[in-house]
Amino acid sequence: MLQLRPVCEHCGKSLPADDAEAMICSFECTFCADCVNDILYNVCPNCGGGFEQRPVRTDEMLAQYPPTKLKIHNPVKSEQFKGILSRYKNIPPSKR
Ligand SMILES: [Zn+2]
Ligand SMILES: [Zn+2]
Repeated sequence: MLQLRPVCEHCGKSLPADDAEAMICSFECTFCADCVNDILYNVCPNCGGGFEQRPVRTDEMLAQYPPTKLKIHNPVKSEQFKGILSRYKNIPPSKR
């Protein structure tokens, strides 16, 4: 089950469970669409994978299975990220 994390790891922007701007990688590292497009170039800084839009859970299921309150703040370290970015940026996520 997805945790539905409440904020962007990089910029801290609030990403409520129904936010269409929330993007996740396969490990559920969570970023806002602006960071994914403008800073990460669809490369997860933690695992190198690509991002997809986070699915939205129905209200009924949210009541039963609420989102986590755990806020992960883990801004991209540009030096470290450079290597990951140059390795994966030009390869589609399905081929990485
Ligand atoms: Zn962000
Ligand atoms: Zn990741």
